[in-house]
Amino acid sequence: MNDILPEQTPYWQYIENSFRQLMRSYGYQEIRMPIVENTALFKRSIGEVTDIVEKEMYTFEDRNGDSLTLRPEGTASCVRAAMQHGLLHNQIQRLWYTGPMFRHERPQKGRYRQFHQFGVETFGLAGPDIDAELILMSNRFWQHLGMSDDVTLELNSLGSSAARQEYKEVLVKYFEALQSDLDEDSQRRLHTNPLRILDSKNPAMQKLNENAPKLIDHLDDESKQDFETLCKTLDDAGVAYKINPRLVRGLDYYSKTVFEWVTDKLGAQGTICAGGRFDGLVEQLGGKATPAIGFALGIERLIELLDIPEEVKRESKLDVYFVLVGDAALSKGMPLAEGWRNDVPGLKLQVNCGAGSIKSQMKKADKSGANIAFLLGDDELEENVLTVKYLREKKDQEVIEIDKVADYLKKNI
Ligand code: ATP
Ligand code: MG
Repeated sequence: MNDILPEQTPYWQYIENSFRQLMRSYGYQEIRMPIVENTALFKRSIGEVTDIVEKEMYTFEDRNGDSLTLRPEGTASCVRAAMQHGLLHNQIQRLWYTGPMFRHERPQKGRYRQFHQFGVETFGLAGPDIDAELILMSNRFWQHLGMSDDVTLELNSLGSSAARQEYKEVLVKYFEALQSDLDEDSQRRLHTNPLRILDSKNPAMQKLNENAPKLIDHLDDESKQDFETLCKTLDDAGVAYKINPRLVRGLDYYSKTVFEWVTDKLGAQGTICAGGRFDGLVEQLGGKATPAIGFALGIERLIELLDIPEEVKRESKLDVYFVLVGDAALSKGMPLAEGWRNDVPGLKLQVNCGAGSIKSQMKKADKSGANIAFLLGDDELEENVLTVKYLREKKDQEVIEIDKVADYLKKNI
């Protein structure tokens, strides 16, 4: 679990602001859920035989003896909240959220025990138009961040649950014939969650998986039709994709469209955004059958990939550091600064606190990253002026009347 230090927070803020703006531009509304839920919610939604539920959850008993879990992902909580507050009753919802998620994984680059996601979930829309909207929206986000060249889209359809059931039988037959070649995980999954064998990251399993029967050849008609329409929409919109028949996603609740945005620039942890349709989940959790689709985007991996624009780095820096020398200046400084903050919207100004010599205050001014320093001492006070010193460019210092400082700032920052 990482601390995010002041040096890094401008990057986070940039991404968060960009995502918030993106959501606004598509008419999505923010929802905020608690960080803990009843353990049963995750077991019932994500599935007992998944990496998350089998070995990654932070589960504890609270003082009442209830079993609670730090959320490992947001979809289950979002569905729970939407059901509980009647947001799904004959309504369409387009929702988004962000926040920390918790998984007890082996920590490594791109894989942490507390990490952060943006999540998007829509309810009441059966697709494939909304499927396309989510993909176009994520695509727009990469464009905005200038990282379109770093990511590629992989697509698959998992079909209806009936079609998937039939396919599972075909798949189990295929793997049963090869049982002695399966690794331990896959042997265990063969009769509990055979689809997940296809998701194996073990290179030894790769050949077997490549030759396995493909789900996409066993789709029901509706899923096939929807998938074709989705692909056509993406073609028309000029979004490139690769159909990956082994893309099954790690969570049980998916059906029909699934997708991932992957990169080869982050080593083994290459998925930065993953999503899909989960038409069965609301009903499975006790609600009325409701079509739904969503995606989750890992913010740490995104930051790893991103080149932050220069203007964003600059934005987080101060405009002015205000040096105050002598007792008279000390008492005048704060009220002056308040006045400028009133008069100049967006001004980033820091007043020196803790007094000190001119030399030590100028050192602090330099370290603050500010472009200019204002200096107010006894001499200046007498004349009702202050001295402007340029910290980042070779330019002579100036003296300006205190009454004109607001105008000066409006012109120069
Ligand atoms: P993986 O196969 O990498 O374990 P997953 O299927 O468990 O991924 P999801 O549950 O789909 O991942 O989460 C969506 C996204 O959240 C991932 O694509 C990734 O960007 C991010 N993510 C997931 N787990 C972690 C983690 N432990 N640390 C950092 N980011 C993560
Ligand atoms: Mg995982």
